[in-house]
Amino acid sequence: LLFATLSDRLSATFKNLRGKGRLSEADIDATAREIRIALLEADVALPVVKDFVAAVKERARGEEVSQALNPAQQVVKIVNEELIEILGGETRRLRYAKTGPTVIMLAGLQGAGKTTLAAKLALWLKDQGKAPLLVACDLQRPNAVQQLQVNGEKVGVPVFAPEPGNGTGDPVSVAKASIEEAKRKLHDVVIVDTAGRLGVDAEMMAQAAGIRDAVQPDEVLFVVDAMIGQDALTTAQAFLDGVGYDGVVLTKLDGDARGGAALSIRQVTGRPVMFASTGEKLTDFDVFHPDRMASRILDMGDVLTLIEQAEKAFDQEEALRAAEKLTGGDFTLDDFLAQMQQLKKLGSMTSILKMLPGMGQIRDQIENFDEREIDRVEAIIRSMTPAERANPKIIDGSRRSRIAKGSGRTVSDVNGLVDRFFEARKMMMQMARGGGMPGMPGMPG
Ligand code: GDP
Repeated sequence: LLFATLSDRLSATFKNLRGKGRLSEADIDATAREIRIALLEADVALPVVKDFVAAVKERARGEEVSQALNPAQQVVKIVNEELIEILGGETRRLRYAKTGPTVIMLAGLQGAGKTTLAAKLALWLKDQGKAPLLVACDLQRPNAVQQLQVNGEKVGVPVFAPEPGNGTGDPVSVAKASIEEAKRKLHDVVIVDTAGRLGVDAEMMAQAAGIRDAVQPDEVLFVVDAMIGQDALTTAQAFLDGVGYDGVVLTKLDGDARGGAALSIRQVTGRPVMFASTGEKLTDFDVFHPDRMASRILDMGDVLTLIEQAEKAFDQEEALRAAEKLTGGDFTLDDFLAQMQQLKKLGSMTSILKMLPGMGQIRDQIENFDEREIDRVEAIIRSMTPAERANPKIIDGSRRSRIAKGSGRTVSDVNGLVDRFFEARKMMMQMARGGGMPGMPGMPG
């Protein structure tokens, strides 16, 4: 899978940081070294690697320490944000023309996946409620026109092409005529597929530039195969000089295990990746979201979202105090209650549990989780004396039935809570030692 090696390497790097109370200069250096190796192994361009590592180092050293996060999470957060940055920051959406049909022109080498992509994009636009027209201007490659027609038929989008048998045709006039056709037939988007060559070629560039001048596209998209590694960057530069483009489409993202090109192309060309193609099926296509791609690379499930929310919602002093208590092992039922109240601020328990990685197997349990459980637990704890909350071991049988009465619950509810508390405390101490989620209080049930 794409980025698999990078993900593995980065996870290993973060694991080394777990359980650290704070980051030393040596930790930061070691981490930076690991990240550098991980990126180079993933075939990310050297200048991009250098900038990336420098930025992470500077930020890790800097004063942006958050009490809600442990050092490992801090680094995950920084790396995530820097990944989003090199992937382009905000998602770059397609820009539609204000009047007349929006013209999208595709450029790229032969085999990049242009023709396939044209149909994918057409299907996607159709799903967005658009009425696209596909235009076959690849009159070079044998069967390119037919391939586009076949795919157009599959996605139910008409294809404008030169009449068969009408010589080789001139791509520039086909392109021009297609705009008139689109206006006549009320198409609001025109997708122009152009001819590629196996390598960068002056004639191809001139032809693409000719088509560009003739149709004045709203968006020129450079289509590139993510599997060709660093070659993608040289090609990208050549097309930038030869034709120019507004955005990049990465194809075959399903194939490459390294994906360095995907990580470098924005930095190297200054053009955002706008779409990604992830398979041979015409539905294997989507808008490229830098933030989603970054979290996929980090392979942290939605822990990142959780980190963000934790930072926002947690009372930092409180979290720090609780974290200290956890490691010390003198966590009480009062803390348990305080933590649950903090948790409530994070939103519903169910949505929080769903964000944790590896929760797939216990999905049913999650779905059935009863939010009112927190209120019940709260009632029980409130019926205990301060001494009992501090040390639940002292709660004997008769006290259990008094607490049950006082809270309107049964004795077995009280027993259950006390048992779960001890279990949670044990689990949290393990997590605290292993550097799991700090400030993530024990969850009942
Ligand atoms: P063009 O020469 O640029 O028009 O490239 P094509 O659209 O003909 O694609 C070249 C080959 O790559 C075809 O066999 C496609 O099926 C395949 N292809 C295109 N996009 C993808 C993709 O995202 N993933 C995979 N695995 N194959 C793709």
